[in-house]
Amino acid sequence: MHCPFCNADDTKVIDSRLVSEGYEVRRRRQCTDCNERFTTFEVAELIMPNVIKSNNVREPFNDEKLRSGMQRALEKRPVSFDAIEDAITRIKSKLRATGEREVATKLIGDYVIEELKNLDKVAYIRFASVYFSFDDIEQFSKEIAKLQQK
Ligand SMILES: [Zn+2]
Repeated sequence: MHCPFCNADDTKVIDSRLVSEGYEVRRRRQCTDCNERFTTFEVAELIMPNVIKSNNVREPFNDEKLRSGMQRALEKRPVSFDAIEDAITRIKSKLRATGEREVATKLIGDYVIEELKNLDKVAYIRFASVYFSFDDIEQFSKEIAKLQQK
């Protein structure tokens, strides 16, 4: 790695250790030319798949869109901020775990629905009513009937 101080081509690693409970490697490096020291961190790059929208347009995955969609459904509901963040983390790790470079918004919607079902029934119905199209109105009625039975 190049030296950030003098741009020399080569620097050597003088110390290397695991940090962040083993999820990062911290390295101390020293320039062989100017002897300046600096630190680098190595972390796994976990890439979120791109999103294929229903009109076939591709866009990068957007945390904020996911969060605001869920918050809209959960507005004025007794669900903690932490619980929402945990749900978002689970959804994102499931999306990464698909190993796909592109996923349909439909898949994200399915994961959101699953999480909302566990978080809050009212939020679930709010989201589902927007999410299921009119073609699926029968399916939606069935879902509500199922919830009412419980
Ligand atoms: Zn240097």
